[in-house]
Amino acid sequence: MDHSLDHILAPALAERRAAHRYRHRRLLQTPQVPEVIIDGQRYLSFCSNDYLGLANHPDVIQRLQTAAAQYGVGSGASHLVSGHSSEHHALEEELAAFCGRDRALLFSTGYMANLGAITALVGQGDVVFEDRLNHASLLDAGLLSGARFQRFLHNDLDNLHARLEKTEAARKLIVVDGVFSMDGDFAPLPQLAQLAQQHNAWLMVDDAHGFGCFGQTGGGSAEHFGLTQTQLPILMGTLGKAFGTFGAFIAGSETLIETLIQFARPYIYTTAMPPAVAAATRTSLQLLQRESWRREHLHQLIAHFRRGAAELGLQLLDSVSPIQPIILGEEARALAFSEQLAARGFLVIAIRPPTVPAGSSRLRVTISAEHSQAQVDALLDALDAVNQQVPA
Ligand SMILES: *Cc1c(COP(=O)(O)O)cnc(C)c1O
Repeated sequence: MDHSLDHILAPALAERRAAHRYRHRRLLQTPQVPEVIIDGQRYLSFCSNDYLGLANHPDVIQRLQTAAAQYGVGSGASHLVSGHSSEHHALEEELAAFCGRDRALLFSTGYMANLGAITALVGQGDVVFEDRLNHASLLDAGLLSGARFQRFLHNDLDNLHARLEKTEAARKLIVVDGVFSMDGDFAPLPQLAQLAQQHNAWLMVDDAHGFGCFGQTGGGSAEHFGLTQTQLPILMGTLGKAFGTFGAFIAGSETLIETLIQFARPYIYTTAMPPAVAAATRTSLQLLQRESWRREHLHQLIAHFRRGAAELGLQLLDSVSPIQPIILGEEARALAFSEQLAARGFLVIAIRPPTVPAGSSRLRVTISAEHSQAQVDALLDALDAVNQQVPA
């Protein structure tokens, strides 16, 4: 028997390859912009989460540079030791004001924010209810928390209600994506807030894809639906998507934030993000709030894309967000679509199981305020041609 590491690991890789689920990394040689160079080839990209085009904004870059000159690069320690800089602190205060919450707490990534918050808030003897299409970081956090883990049907209030009725746990946490990362649709947040209040449950929303894209000032799903801190007490956002930088935050009451500082292990036991990244994020927050034309242009492009794709007979989902999936079914079909688009110079990623349920492999088109209408039209033309080429 061969017990070497490679011998034991190889079959799972072969199996994944045979199932058309093998994933490859591409080498990006430009900033995150619509016209990228990847593996030496030029593409028009429709797969970035940089929804407002701030990742490469000159003011954000400038701020990163000046702050790095002032503070250096590494933060050198965790927040609780000596790594909490005045830039982190100022950003937290600005994010709290932006969200209309008492306080906000920075995390180094969104994955860690979700892991930290959920494991600090519930444990053995409690119950966590999660939409079955929640982001992997939320699902992992629910499983790791030690609380009883219940997944309810996607956006199905009756299914959640029935589950809430049956539980007697003291702590009940309902967790959803504000805008679902692979389907692009909203969670029914006002109804979820009401249900949570009726059942003395707490509502947590991961708004990684809502912030910057929705709400009058870019305040995301909470602003879009007008949900207060009482209705939506645990609000999470990421900074690596529409903010164009890196990191994440949780916003809520003084007591919530102090609880996370004391008990959220992925907050405590990790190095603080570089202060210059926090400084750059302060600039992107100003741009995101102030320059609403980015949001307006983005929503015009989304509507334009949806009209065009519907005319081509493509199967879209019920999404008004920058995430516009085209459902194709089997893995091989989604891959063939993606490959043929690439051959025409368009980068659109095929999303397959286990990221999405079997039989719902898709192209995940994402639209950015940096795109022009002509670029969206070019994508629609290419989709039309490929749709006629790839067998159903
Ligand atoms: C991207 C994403 C995360 C993870 O955030 P990172 O900062 O990239 O770790 C969490 N939740 C959702 C819904 C996301 O889309």
